[in-house]
Amino acid sequence: MMLQHNVSLRPFNTFGIAVNAAHLALATDEQSIAEALEYRQKQNLGLLVVGGGSNLLLTRDVEDLILQNGLKGITSQNISEDTVLVTAAAGENWHQFVVHCLQNDWGGVENLSLIPGNVGASPMQNIGAYGIEIKDSFYSLRAMDVRDGSIREFDAETSRFGYRESIFKREAKGHYIILSVTYQLSRRNHRLNTSYGAISQELEKMGIATPTIQDVSQAVIAIRRSKLPDPAVLGNAGSFFKNPVVENALLENIRSTYPQVVAYPAGEGHSKLAAGWLIETAGWKGFRRGDAGVHALQALVLVNYGHASGKEIWQLSQDVVDDVHQKFGVELEREVNVY
Ligand code: FAD
Ligand code: NAP
Repeated sequence: MMLQHNVSLRPFNTFGIAVNAAHLALATDEQSIAEALEYRQKQNLGLLVVGGGSNLLLTRDVEDLILQNGLKGITSQNISEDTVLVTAAAGENWHQFVVHCLQNDWGGVENLSLIPGNVGASPMQNIGAYGIEIKDSFYSLRAMDVRDGSIREFDAETSRFGYRESIFKREAKGHYIILSVTYQLSRRNHRLNTSYGAISQELEKMGIATPTIQDVSQAVIAIRRSKLPDPAVLGNAGSFFKNPVVENALLENIRSTYPQVVAYPAGEGHSKLAAGWLIETAGWKGFRRGDAGVHALQALVLVNYGHASGKEIWQLSQDVVDDVHQKFGVELEREVNVY
């Protein structure tokens, strides 16, 4: 384990928030993770695991032990002519993992191209985009229990995935360090999902009538690059809020004033509202206070123009929550993990 003290966390979070870590452990193997847990116990510290820091808002200096999970390696096992199990260590970059799958012509994660962060965090909120969530191809994961160092395996059922949710973000928050994740992918007869959002239009623009998984990935990459701020240029953590699921009565109430409200069916008697539409309609798109802002092209993304503090971003998010509640009667929930 490599241990550092009084380190700026600015390079460790895509918001670019400049708080300090009292103790930062970098672990590249499981033994180092076990050592980090021992150190934490001896020093009587809390624990915060970080991957790519792309779903994190740091609002204060961190006295707890920060553990950056840098485990590497990808292995695969064909289990039939149709199916392969692919296991990636937690510290593998998610998009590089997707690229590896595409190079081997393994299908199932192409719609999730270019999502920042690491494989280890992918089950945390059941990452999703363009009509696909990781739960659709998830097989299992290995995790270390921070309370006693034991190793446990979770399958899709015990991971309790939901919309941008899992047991690791809820009931078992802080209990496990995810070590590796196994995905079950197709080796042939790939089932493409191109019906969502702008994918089919993008494929048409590319002149592709019968797309491959690689084409779908390219289409997703092109759309994402045109819409989303690159954290290397403008600090952000992607969508700051979840899309709220509301009762249809509330949707109809909103629709009576705003006939153009964006909503999708979400199970019996419920609808999913586009949080970006609510925030934009409430007038926040492009808003800036100091260096904290609401992105000018995508109102769901809060941004750091340079030197915003985590507290300033958090306060802006609270003002958005309060205003959306007052205008639409909808309670927005933060998707980003606030520390
Ligand atoms: P981190 O931010 O480092 O950590 C996130 C949480 O997981 C923290 O609570 C952390 O403690 C915990 N954690 C991390 N690694 C582990 C581990 N190994 N074991 C236990 N706990 C761990 N998300 C989507 O779902 N869909 C998108 O389309 C999407 N697009 C994005 C676009 C942009 C531009 C950005 C900046 C973010 C986007 N995100 C999206 C959010 C983010 O990229 C994902 O949630 C990603 O999975 C976070 O990975 P990470 O390694 O950066 O996690
Ligand atoms: P978009 O395509 O402009 O759509 C706006 C919203 O409407 C999205 O939030 C999406 O919900 C929903 N939507 C669109 N088509 C839908 C359909 N056919 N059925 C159900 N819901 C539909 O969204 P975008 O902002 O450009 O993002 C594209 C995709 O990338 C989305 O899936 C989004 O979740 C994902 N993304 C996520 C993050 C993040 O940080 N979590 C950041 C950027 C992009 P869903 O969000 O439920 O899909």
